[in-house]
Amino acid sequence: MNNRELIEKLKSERALSKDEFTQLISTYTKEDREFAAKLAREEANMVFGKKIFVRGLIEFSSYCKNDCYYCGLRRSNINAERYRLSKEDILRCADEGYELGFRTFVLQSGEDGYYTDEILCDIVKSIKGAHSDCAITLSLGERSEESYQRLLDAGADRYLLRHETANAEHYARLHPKNLKAEHRQECLRTLKRIGYQTGCGFMVGSPFQTAENLAEDMLFIKRLDPEMVGIGPFIPQHDTPFRDEQKGSLEDTLFMLSLIRLMKPNVLLPATTALGTISPIGREQGILAGANVVMPNLSPTEVRSKYLLYDNKICTGDESAQCKECLNNRMKSIGYEIVTDRGDYQELTIDNG
Ligand code: SAH
Ligand code: SF4
Repeated sequence: MNNRELIEKLKSERALSKDEFTQLISTYTKEDREFAAKLAREEANMVFGKKIFVRGLIEFSSYCKNDCYYCGLRRSNINAERYRLSKEDILRCADEGYELGFRTFVLQSGEDGYYTDEILCDIVKSIKGAHSDCAITLSLGERSEESYQRLLDAGADRYLLRHETANAEHYARLHPKNLKAEHRQECLRTLKRIGYQTGCGFMVGSPFQTAENLAEDMLFIKRLDPEMVGIGPFIPQHDTPFRDEQKGSLEDTLFMLSLIRLMKPNVLLPATTALGTISPIGREQGILAGANVVMPNLSPTEVRSKYLLYDNKICTGDESAQCKECLNNRMKSIGYEIVTDRGDYQELTIDNG
């Protein structure tokens, strides 16, 4: 089959074989990419219309006990400036976000042992107490089932944990020995089983990644059947072992977004900050390739320049209101609109596939 036929098959069958994905990802042309984007955009429009969901990102701690080779927050990075936000700081961010129309807050951090289950549950309950009509998404890395359950019981709704790469050997080249692909995937299955809206995802163009690895990521997503998928280009950070590696490409990221949309028409799929970092209109192009979510930063301006997963991160000098307004305008410029809505995952009632 040629690539165009494979893209059509992915849309109608919501699946391809590993070889088919590998062919598509390793040989696609500009025309193939634009064709996939058009179909993916139509799928997204069918499910979400021209509405874009917005999530307020609160990056509440830059401490991390892990040493992922790609990330600027890795514990060996002695140049990283570390900070922790207090419960009061976090609540202030959420209050401000609520006023700006956010109905989902994403609490993200390095893996920071300071925040025990008790502290985190108290924060989750307090946000829910103040804003009962909001959803809370956690992105805190790998924890025990017991911990995930306690946070869910405290009121958390969703959990983002990118699988990073589905291939165990590739995973081992991106992480030190103590971190295992299998454990991360087990965490994802646990999160889903106990009842979180669950998000996996990966970096596009991470060091050593092959087209076959990306095909495996697609099959992993198919099997896990997550409610959300977060992908963005790998971007080198100057204080990590991968400082001299190539960044992921805009085109590959856009193409992968389209393939994910075609495979899962109703999945919640953000056009990420990393995509906006490698291209001035990356997020707009992400939406036009099938994404339906944006995640402006709600962190206090003073700490933003300390949460540097990768180099040249955008929006580190802005106020939350500016970020929201900027994204509002960007979405309007391409005929979309940000809505005040929790933006929960909805099962598809009819699939056109
Ligand atoms: N500590 C948590 C959440 C923070 S990291 C966790 O690891 O899940 C959130 C995501 O940032 C990671 O999953 C990774 O995919 C992405 N990331 C880290 N370093 C990056 C880099 N150099 N370029 C692009 N994305 C990166
Ligand atoms: Fe820590 Fe997450 Fe960065 Fe890994 S990716 S070093 S777990 S913050």
